[in-house]
Amino acid sequence: MYGYWRFIAVAAIIGLMTTGEPRTTADEAKSGENEPNGEVRKRMEKEIGDLVAFYKDLHTNPELSLKEVRTSAKLAAELKNLGFDVTTKFGATGVVGVLKNGKGPTVLIRTDMDALPVTEATGLPYASKVRVRDKNDNEVGVMHACGHDIHMTSWVGAARVLSGMKDRWKGTLVFIAQPAEEIGTGARLMLEAGLYEKFPKPDYCLALHADAQRAHGTIGYTEGMAMANVDSVDIIVKGKGGHGATPHMTVDPIVLSARIIMDLQTLVSRETNPVDSAVVTVGSIHGGTKHNIIPNEVKLQLTVRSFKESVRKHLLDGIKRIAEGCAKAANAPPPVVTVDLAEFTPALSNDAELTRKTVAVFKNVLGEKNVLPRPPLMGGEDFARYAVGKTPVFMWWLGTIDPAKVLKAENGGSPLPSMHSALYYPEPEPSLRLGVTTLSLGALNLLK
Ligand code: ZN
Ligand code: ZN
Repeated sequence: MYGYWRFIAVAAIIGLMTTGEPRTTADEAKSGENEPNGEVRKRMEKEIGDLVAFYKDLHTNPELSLKEVRTSAKLAAELKNLGFDVTTKFGATGVVGVLKNGKGPTVLIRTDMDALPVTEATGLPYASKVRVRDKNDNEVGVMHACGHDIHMTSWVGAARVLSGMKDRWKGTLVFIAQPAEEIGTGARLMLEAGLYEKFPKPDYCLALHADAQRAHGTIGYTEGMAMANVDSVDIIVKGKGGHGATPHMTVDPIVLSARIIMDLQTLVSRETNPVDSAVVTVGSIHGGTKHNIIPNEVKLQLTVRSFKESVRKHLLDGIKRIAEGCAKAANAPPPVVTVDLAEFTPALSNDAELTRKTVAVFKNVLGEKNVLPRPPLMGGEDFARYAVGKTPVFMWWLGTIDPAKVLKAENGGSPLPSMHSALYYPEPEPSLRLGVTTLSLGALNLLK
């Protein structure tokens, strides 16, 4: 099914390999130094050495969700230094920097700051060796395995470029660094703390995300629905425990759970319109202690994903209906079904107009073949929350991988490590070049 996309991606990479570096780092003649593009590149090139060092420091010193203390202090210091009006500890460890420059639109640029409980296995000289205790008191390694260090450094780079070009734009920049994207909490905390009431309300929100499968020098984008609604659901299946040798005197919650799990599959396969996307995954099942004891209860944990609100509602209602129906059929007590709203991430829909006008700038600078549409994902991103009140949002995918490696993987080589893998690493310099350039040009295009 991805044949077409694979063709496009390979064609782009071949294009890149034959023409050398993407046009972000050369071809000044085409854009000219008086164009914003020329000046952005000139300023970016001046900063790039320092930004790579900044990136490596963040990579070596990752912090878990809601523990981003050192990280947020570094980012706040950067913005202060550049003349932004900075507020810290906004929504846990969040940072808000405002730079006013006359009458004009307000553009918000967002980065996330958190790393993951993953023990790094890249073998890089600047790899993280950080180990901490997680909230369950287990010792875990910590790693920027989702590229949030690339996001932060690109954000710092764009702040440097844009604050140095105040004669070229009018309006207000709001730079935010949010905590806890990985647990779907940070954007909500910042909005609940009054991000849109206490600071200038954005007319546009921009962000980028590192892409573990995409060649550096290229950008991916999805207009409209880009990432899914993500819900976490817990089911406690109740039974009546007893001896394994006398099942007739019990209500076995393990057999009942098996029925529920199988029946849940029909929510997607039989009850959802085949042209709509939906996922119901039971990711965890726990019950019982011993071979010959029928337990009292079994716990299930589900991830439930959709794009449309109507599909989401149908899935969540259907899970309850099926769990209760199966329990009734088994003569069991009613199960307890809980949707954990604190963990909910809404679907990300990239505003069509904002996507088009930003992509047009990228294509102009990078060339058509390096700016490619990509199909939506069932993953979630809490950047979606900034769209509250119909605020237009756009997040694009930043290529971070050596093009030769992407080409090899596409041609039958071993697959590239995915996002969140202990082996994933971006190529810092080319990724940051494009990260800084696209964030800066995306904002300038709106602040003209
Ligand atoms: Zn992630
Ligand atoms: Zn991420």
